[in-house]
Amino acid sequence: MTQTQVRDTGGRPVLVIGGGIAGVTTAVEAAEAGCDVILVEKLPYLGGRVARLFRYFPKLCPPGCGLEINFRRIKINPRITVLTQATVDDISGSPGDFQATITVAPRFVTDACTLCDKCAEVCPVERPDDFNLDMDRTRAAYLPHRLAYPPLYVIDRVACPSGCTACRDACAYGAIDLTQQPARRTVKVAAVVAATGWAPYDATKIDNLGFGRYPNVVTNVMLERLAAPDGPTRGRILRPSDGQPPASIAFVQCAGSRDENHLPYCSAVCCAASLKHVTYLRDVYPEARITIFYIDLRTPGRLEDFLQKVTADERLTLIKGKVAGVEEDPATHDLMVTAEDVMGGRKITQTVNLLVLATGIVPQTDGLPAGFALDEYRFVAHSNGGTGMFAAGCVTRPEEVSATVQDATGAALKALQAVVRSAHHG
Ligand SMILES: Cc1cc2nc3c(=O)[nH]c(=O)nc-3n(C[C@H](O)[C@H](O)[C@H](O)COP(=O)(O)OP(=O)(O)OC[C@H]3O[C@@H](n4cnc5c(N)ncnc54)[C@H](O)[C@@H]3O)c2cc1C
Repeated sequence: MTQTQVRDTGGRPVLVIGGGIAGVTTAVEAAEAGCDVILVEKLPYLGGRVARLFRYFPKLCPPGCGLEINFRRIKINPRITVLTQATVDDISGSPGDFQATITVAPRFVTDACTLCDKCAEVCPVERPDDFNLDMDRTRAAYLPHRLAYPPLYVIDRVACPSGCTACRDACAYGAIDLTQQPARRTVKVAAVVAATGWAPYDATKIDNLGFGRYPNVVTNVMLERLAAPDGPTRGRILRPSDGQPPASIAFVQCAGSRDENHLPYCSAVCCAASLKHVTYLRDVYPEARITIFYIDLRTPGRLEDFLQKVTADERLTLIKGKVAGVEEDPATHDLMVTAEDVMGGRKITQTVNLLVLATGIVPQTDGLPAGFALDEYRFVAHSNGGTGMFAAGCVTRPEEVSATVQDATGAALKALQAVVRSAHHG
């Protein structure tokens, strides 16, 4: 028996909101256990934040591999309906018998797309590339990223010049339909899983660290794209101010996290992410001087080995102390970082070419329909099971991918129980 031939549970589908690694895992686990699943993702592609990482800690493998395996599981499983550019507006009803209203925005590109790129070639306008965090640009007819699933172009109609039909006229496959309209549909579902993930904390709110004022202050999520071969610097990690390679780089840990003025909680993954970023830099700049300013380095469990391995680097300096302020030298655009050196019992100022802020994780709950209980920090509180509404991944707490996958597998089980109950009770 193949994975897709398991016995049908006979119940209503499971609705999964968010197509990151948590939502994708919930969907494939539930579908392979016999449930029908509707997977709703607001962006034109699945994969969430993980799709934008260059490598995974601790193994430093490319996230594309794990995602592709899951995309293949989706592709071969007729039980899963994927709706991209879609949101859930409203949920009513009770466990086993929910009614959900879903809006799907037009993609303007049909399944006939062969990824030939002709539409992008003839497109006369550009738009900020949100996949690369607006650090470069795409045409208004674009493929969201190299490994995008579904593998289809999309047209950003907001960016199109009025009346332009160049992409449609150039498409030899008739795959562009500029008349598409938003579609609204109502579905009956047995259970709902929120997997809407996280967004990076807005670094412009951390006034003393200079993000948004000084071009060479970047964030950890920006560094992921700068290190990626399909990123804005084609993986070379160059200074935004002048496109030059940095010889000295510093990281500010807990940029906004564990701070009552910003995010009171620990974002859990930022220490391991910065250690991973040291390896990105070391690969391209063997001589670079790297400093990490930290309050505590938190690398629980097996990440301790990763910490030991990365910190054996002789050109990496760890300074325990909170960064008080960052100033820019206007002539060079270098950054002067002033911090407390707790171990040395003094205040220090270090000048670096590039500064990376390890910003924290904020739950993405704004677009969720009503009905999910939120905790004091606006993460979705785990349900005891009676509500038929569950959550998985970083929308419940900051966590790395392996914990997210476990969480999502648990959510699939909870959803499956609700489906089976709905089948038995009609
Ligand atoms: C800088 C940095 C580096 C990291 N590196 C690593 C690493 O190397 N290894 C590791 O294990 N972990 C790493 N992590 C953690 C990792 O990113 C998370 O564990 C992972 O993204 C969690 O996946 P998720 O599906 O819960 O959330 P997300 O990846 O955020 O996915 C959520 C999805 O839901 C969609 N969505 C949001 N709202 C809606 C809505 N209203 N309707 C429909 N769809 C919606 C989003 O568009 C997105 O596709 C890193 C984190 C940071 C900050």
